[in-house]
Amino acid sequence: MNRLQKVLEANKEFVAHGKHDYSDEDIARSKLPQKKMAIFTCMDTRLTEILEPAMGIGRGDAKIIRTVGNYLTGEFDTVIRSLMVAIYELGVEEIFVVGHYECGMAKTTAKSLATAMREHGVPEEAIEKVHEELATWANAFRDPVENVRDAVKKLAANPYIPKTIKIHGLMIHPRTGKLDVVADE
Ligand SMILES: [Zn+2]
Repeated sequence: MNRLQKVLEANKEFVAHGKHDYSDEDIARSKLPQKKMAIFTCMDTRLTEILEPAMGIGRGDAKIIRTVGNYLTGEFDTVIRSLMVAIYELGVEEIFVVGHYECGMAKTTAKSLATAMREHGVPEEAIEKVHEELATWANAFRDPVENVRDAVKKLAANPYIPKTIKIHGLMIHPRTGKLDVVADE
């Protein structure tokens, strides 16, 4: 069985045995984040099923944006766009940037990525094209705590994020779920 087949098999089980009657309450709940929060965090697999309960968040409570290393790449990057929709269309009033200890991005470098890309057959000119951006992004990320503080600062100064939005910077421990506040705007 390949991975897709396994997913579809699990899905059959899930749909057959879960209680998923789509009530009116569910429909209302599906769109607006009830706690008016957006969370910007890492794609690390260990955060799945620990981040939300560790923050007291359930289904329908918050918008969650996950990228590698919860790193902002620009003033109007895809994270900012997601936050804009969350704020302007879905009523989000507070942003929580949640980094985590032991983040793998701290070990990733432009060189390690370029080498792996070459090994996977990515053309040299394509690597060359993003080399500078790779360097500023992958090499800049050394300390996940500093990265959260930096993201909070950037969000607070971002012209597309209104000044009324509260922005918090937190670190989560991927094993215990313990949260530490490292920045508050
Ligand atoms: Zn991470």
